[in-house]
Amino acid sequence: MESVSERLASVRERMSCALRKAGRATDSARLVAVSKTFPAEAIATVREAGQLLFGENRVQELAGKVPVLPQDIEWHPIGHLQANKVRAAVNLAAWIHSIDTADLLRRVIRIAAEENRAPRLLLEVNVSGEASKFGMRTDEVEATVAACPTPLLCGLMTVAPAEATETELHRVFASLRELRDRVSAATGQPLPELSMGMSGDFEIALAEGATLVRVGSAIFGHRDYTAGAPG
Ligand SMILES: *Cc1c(COP(=O)(O)O)cnc(C)c1O
Repeated sequence: MESVSERLASVRERMSCALRKAGRATDSARLVAVSKTFPAEAIATVREAGQLLFGENRVQELAGKVPVLPQDIEWHPIGHLQANKVRAAVNLAAWIHSIDTADLLRRVIRIAAEENRAPRLLLEVNVSGEASKFGMRTDEVEATVAACPTPLLCGLMTVAPAEATETELHRVFASLRELRDRVSAATGQPLPELSMGMSGDFEIALAEGATLVRVGSAIFGHRDYTAGAPG
């Protein structure tokens, strides 16, 4: 069986290949290792293998892990953020990927100022329009950015449909990139970051311009939701 550090090395190698194939610099995208449901010991092993950026879905789970892990880890909340968890998230996170309404964006900006923190923020967009998904509609993004000018906002994030074909995945990721280009041009807000791509589709996302990929199971292995809190 492959070790966690071998799987991490393999994901990094696949990222480099995909970036080279796309004519992009190999340092133009970052890997966020998604550690939801995995214990602190597993995260510590991946950290020892050189990985610094970790993603978690639930703020409560994140808050339990932060104090027992190396302080140089950069934490990325990537799951739906409840209003009453914003202060905790702002105090723990370097980035927040999952700002899914204009109200939440305003709240995060206000609380970040109160806490003297500057997390980098991404708007989550439901590109495919699935009813089961969080994220704002594509036609809400421009008004949201225009209404809340802030240097904290630095890009867009999406989760592709689970059952999509390769062609559909290219279309979803390209749509997020094109939306970013349009919104950035219309509002003057620089939005250089695109958080897209997971274990099953990160190479396609990199071909379409991802600057952050969120990879969980390809590094940590299969998630067992029954053993702990759901993601
Ligand atoms: C769980 C999760 C991931 C990682 O998924 P894998 O398929 O395990 O790589 C990425 N992004 C979000 C938003 C997630 O919830």
